[in-house]
Amino acid sequence: MALQKANRDLMRDLNTSLVVNLVKGGGPISRAELARQSKLSPATITGIVARLVRLGVLSELAIGPSKLGRPPVLLRLNERAGYVIGIKLKEHGLTTVVTNLAAEVVHSAESDTHLIGDPQAALVAIEDAVRHSLTESGVKRKMVLGIGIGLAGVIDAGQGVCRYSHILHWQDVALSEPLRRKLQIPVWVDNDVNTLAVAEKWFGAGIGLKHFLTVTVGRGIGLGIVLNGEIYRGAIGGAGEFGHIVVAPDGPSCQCGRSGCLEALVSEPVLVNRISAALGRQVSADEMLELAGSGHAVVTAVLAEAGQQLGLALANLVTLLNPERLIVSGEGTRLGPAMFDTMQERIRSMTFDGLAAQMDIVIQPWGDRAWAIGAATLVLRELFSLPVAGEPHGLALIAEA
Ligand SMILES: [Zn+2]
Repeated sequence: MALQKANRDLMRDLNTSLVVNLVKGGGPISRAELARQSKLSPATITGIVARLVRLGVLSELAIGPSKLGRPPVLLRLNERAGYVIGIKLKEHGLTTVVTNLAAEVVHSAESDTHLIGDPQAALVAIEDAVRHSLTESGVKRKMVLGIGIGLAGVIDAGQGVCRYSHILHWQDVALSEPLRRKLQIPVWVDNDVNTLAVAEKWFGAGIGLKHFLTVTVGRGIGLGIVLNGEIYRGAIGGAGEFGHIVVAPDGPSCQCGRSGCLEALVSEPVLVNRISAALGRQVSADEMLELAGSGHAVVTAVLAEAGQQLGLALANLVTLLNPERLIVSGEGTRLGPAMFDTMQERIRSMTFDGLAAQMDIVIQPWGDRAWAIGAATLVLRELFSLPVAGEPHGLALIAEA
């Protein structure tokens, strides 16, 4: 009996998720259209919609167009039914955003704190950032569905623990549990590139795709892998350390202690050094961007070579995983065609027959807040994802709020 009830609850929640997602993706939409697209009965749709309107997740829009008879009432997602907080941890501070249910930023802030080797400072800084953001945004605490945190490293997302971060010099640092206790708000933690992949899946270039890759180019080289609609994490959460695949064993030494990692060849600080060496004088990252934009011959030659090195590594990745789409993001995308034209050309020419032709490559315009918005979508995902048996459904967050 208990099992039957559990199955009934799960089925109801599966249907609820389906309806929320149809409205999110295709709204404003009528009840009749929802029934048609979901293949659920009109009576089932009426029940689910009534509950979602009561919770404030859906709202009814005046009237839609109609050719005959009574005009239908249209339903839309009420993006102000709840808010989430997204935080990106960096070596020397954090970026915090408050977003609504549509992942639109209603408040953002930067704070400076030295976090390298000091997890305790990070916990205090996160608490402060959350309290300040709530005060400054005017969002009430009871409207906050959760906090999402993204950081570089190997993260046990299930436990909310940073197992290892070579950028922050952290090992086995629990984040979710102590923060949840202090702030009385649920907390999710994940690798920062995985948070970007989640953001693409629910709100960006990954909507509707089952298999895609998100590669970040910047201070480091990161990879988020989505297979069968799920983030692929590997045995201990370390999958996607793409920056540390060795592409030149005799190459320059890497921060990780090995030599010739992809990151040691094409990350932004390395490119600044390579260009400085080629020009015979020290240039800054900003000057590198300027010179690349103006087509400086020496600079574009170095970037074109780096694009080829990155493209070759990506071609091997595409041959291995056969994604539908490759999304390139991160602050490094500002380097533009000088680097990414040769990258694309190399991917097209070096990928196994047919696998590149069916795949498209999207290069995302970049804003620094994208990392924190990614972290916020860790929470939003809970709202929109289909429930797994035995786990609470995301809509319970709103019912409690
Ligand atoms: Zn390395």
